[in-house]
Parts: sequence; structure tokens; C-alpha cells
Amino acid sequence: MSVPRHGLLIGGEVVETEAWMDVDDPATGEVIARIAAATPDDAMRAVAAANAALPGWRATPPLERGALIAKLARLLDDEAPRIAELIHREEGKPLGEAQAEVARANEVVHHFAAEAERLWSSHLPAGPGGRGSTVRPDPVGVVAAITPWNFPVALVVWKLAPALAAGCTLVVKPAQEAPLAAWAVCEAAQRVLPPGVVNCVTGEGPPLGEALATADGVEKVAFTGSRRVAELIAGWAAPRLKHLSLELGGHGPLIALPDADVATVVDVAVSQGYANAGQACYSVNRVLAHRSLVADVLDGIRERVAALTLGPMATERGLERHRMLMEDARARHAKVEGGEDLGGRFVAPALVTGAGPGVRLVDEEPFTPVVAVMAYDEVADAVAEANRPDYGLVGYVCGEDLRRTMDVAQAVECGTVVVNGWRVVVPYAPYAGWRGSGVGAELGRPGLEAFIRWQHLRVLA
Ligand code: NAD
Repeated sequence: MSVPRHGLLIGGEVVETEAWMDVDDPATGEVIARIAAATPDDAMRAVAAANAALPGWRATPPLERGALIAKLARLLDDEAPRIAELIHREEGKPLGEAQAEVARANEVVHHFAAEAERLWSSHLPAGPGGRGSTVRPDPVGVVAAITPWNFPVALVVWKLAPALAAGCTLVVKPAQEAPLAAWAVCEAAQRVLPPGVVNCVTGEGPPLGEALATADGVEKVAFTGSRRVAELIAGWAAPRLKHLSLELGGHGPLIALPDADVATVVDVAVSQGYANAGQACYSVNRVLAHRSLVADVLDGIRERVAALTLGPMATERGLERHRMLMEDARARHAKVEGGEDLGGRFVAPALVTGAGPGVRLVDEEPFTPVVAVMAYDEVADAVAEANRPDYGLVGYVCGEDLRRTMDVAQAVECGTVVVNGWRVVVPYAPYAGWRGSGVGAELGRPGLEAFIRWQHLRVLA
């Protein structure tokens, strides 16, 4: 049976390549599309196209830029059902979760369409000894956006929308495991925006990532993915002093304070622990529950987990990692409930007790559907455990006394801390990895300024 084929998006054209890759459905193994496998030379052609488009896009008045980004947002709203279906097929995410990803991502495009108009400069009328100082924002230049498979649309859009608003042009390199929905977003952008403003090269990570991170003509690398690859990219970008933003993994703690509402704790643990089969950077990985709450929290999680149906693990690597983490936990005398293979790439959600430092799933980002529940007696110990692994992306705190709850939330060393609930991301607030979870921020005003360089025009006479 023939399947759709998607070429590279370069300079407003769809470009054929010699090599192609299959994209399969992780739930069934069925090949659902073929996508171009770009070479480093192809990536350089995309960089050249982005550079050719840069002067025009940079000079486009902000109102006009905003209007074009808003047009893209409306097109993406129209295409949302198709794009969500692509995510569901290529990544295995349940359709409802895929629809939610696309809806939230489109809100980000709408948000930055409006922000494009708000990139004001400032003027100080009479600087000392001169006529004045004007400070103006200027786009950093061509951006390489390198993204992972677990939120294949959101993590493209978080870069693309603010970069476009700032006046940058882009080369997007989606993950090879799930490139179709990201490609569809870039193709929509290509239909709306001038040629070369958004380009997309699909293919294997290592050769393309290195080509883009080392390329002359790429001024910024905006990367989301693993720490291992982030370190490589930072090394490649270093000799040319490129701008970098690195959004990496997390190890989400959920602190349940002694007066926390158990139903809320359970809801946060299950909603964030098992979403996308645990393959989310904002996952709850460790529930740090006051000893007085542990039994009720475990009962609540067990009851909810019994009714869960997870999608498949998106990759074979993820499936193997899940098995390894379960074995490691058992070998170190933790108690594992569930977590068994269910055939194909499907696994049952796992609940782990009796795990502490030294057990891999509480030390390293699991990225599989597992939640560990750990008891504490003193709140200070819970905060110390929350901050122990070298991650700092998203934390959660539940408690009824809001003053104490806020004090604890501020002591959690994460770029985002959610109190008494689980909805993490809004377009107007920054999403940032602290410590080992990254460098820089996406979304919000910082996420826009990440694509800006400032110029001070000091007029002396
Ligand atoms: P990954 O690092 O393997 O891949 C990310 C991107 O880098 C992909 O486009 C891939 O093709 C490319 N790549 C892979 N190997 C490369 C290499 N050697 N050289 C250059 N490029 C290479 O990550 P992944 O497995 O796709 O994603 C999972 C990771 O992403 C997890 O750690 C997760 O927590 C993290 N993540 C972070 C956020 C965030 O916003 N902080 C969001 C989602 C995912």
C-alpha cells in the first residue's frame, strides 16, 4: 500500500532527497508515511534559505509580522484535527492528549502573534552628555530549532512562534521518531509566510544536529531534548559563541504537606505521572508524602491507576528502559506494583514504594510510566529530597495552609512549581529548566526576548 511522502521544506519549496525514512505507528508497527532523510548539505541549503529570507522578515513592520503569525495561528486551528491525528499515529499518544497538545500549542501561536506588536524600544531623551539613548530590539538572526518526539508540535511552536515574532527566520529539525506533525506545522507556516522564513529538515539527529549547531549562518540553537545531546550541542556551538537555549529533562517531585487534600495529591500524581505513558518532561516522578498521608495516597493512586489505559511507549528504546528500571528497582528491594509488559510496546503503569537514593528511577529521569511514593517526617527533608537529583524543571506542592505551601514551593528549585493542581504551561509565563534541566527559558516575555539582541543607539550630537 502506498503511504504519503513528505520532502524537505526549503525556501518555500518542497524538496525531494535521495534517501527516505519510514515513520511507523508505535501501537501497530505499521508504516504510516515516508519522510525525507536530509543530509548535512541539505541542512546547509535550508540555512542559506533562512539567511536569504532574514533581511525581509527582519524589516517587516511588527504589525504586519503579527498579522501573518495570527494568520498562521488560524490556519493551525483549522488543521488541528488533522495534526492531532498525526501525533496520535506517529507517537502513540492517546488522541485526546494529542488534541490537547495541539490546542495548547495553537494558543502559544496566537499569544506570540500579539506579542510581535509589543516589541517596543525605549528612548531616554537626554543621556548624560548627549542627545539621548535609544534601546532597540533586533532579532538574533537565523535559529536552528531542534526538537524531541514526545511533544512534537508544542516544542516546535514554543520556538517558532516567539522567534517569528522577534523577526528571526528558522530551520526546524524535528525528531526522526515523530516528524510528521512538526512537518505539517512547518508546511502550514510555509504556506502563510514569505519563502524561506520557516524551513524544515527531517532526518537522523546526529548528522543534522551537528551540521546546524556548527553552521556559520546559524546564530542561535534552540534545543529541547536529552542532556546527553544538549552537552554535544553546547560543545559544537561553543567555538562560534552561538546563542543557546536548552530545555532538558526533569525529575518532578510532588510534595504532599501534612495538611494536603489527598484527592488533589492523587489527581496530580496520576495526571502527571502517567500522561503520555510517562514520556513527559514535566512528569511527577516522586510523590513525597507526609507519613500520615502515605496509606491514603497509595490507595487513591491504586484506584485511579486500575482504570487507566496508556498509549504505547513511543520507541523500542523507551520500552527497554522501562523494563530495565523495573528490574533495577526490584533488585534494590523496592516494591513494584504493575509495570509489566502488555505486548507490543504497551506496558502497565507502575507504582513503586520503598525506593530511595541509589534506585535508578528515583535518581534519573525515568521517562516511562512510573511513580515512586516516598514517605517523609519533616518538611525540610521533603524539600531536600525534592532538590536532590540534578534536575529542576517542574515541581508540585499540595497543602491547605497557603502561606506555608508557598514557602515550600519557593524552596523547590525548579523553573516551574505548581501549587494544588497539575496544569503547568501557559503561553504568558516562562517555562525554564533550572540546574541540570537546562539553560534559558521558553514562553512568556523571557521566551520572546530569547530571540532578541539589544542595541543601544547613543546619540551624542
Ligand atoms: P534526544 O536528545 O535524543 O533528541 C532530541 C533532538 O536531538 C531530536 O531532534 C534528535 O533527532 C536530535 N538528536 C539526537 N541525537 C543527536 C545527536 N547525537 N546529535 C545531534 N542531535 C541529536 O531527546 P528525545 O529522546 O527525543 O527526547 C526526550 C528528552 O527530551 C527527555 O529528556 C525529555 O525530558 C526532554 N524534554 C524536555 C522538555 C522541556 O521542555 N524541558 C520537553 C520535552 C522533552
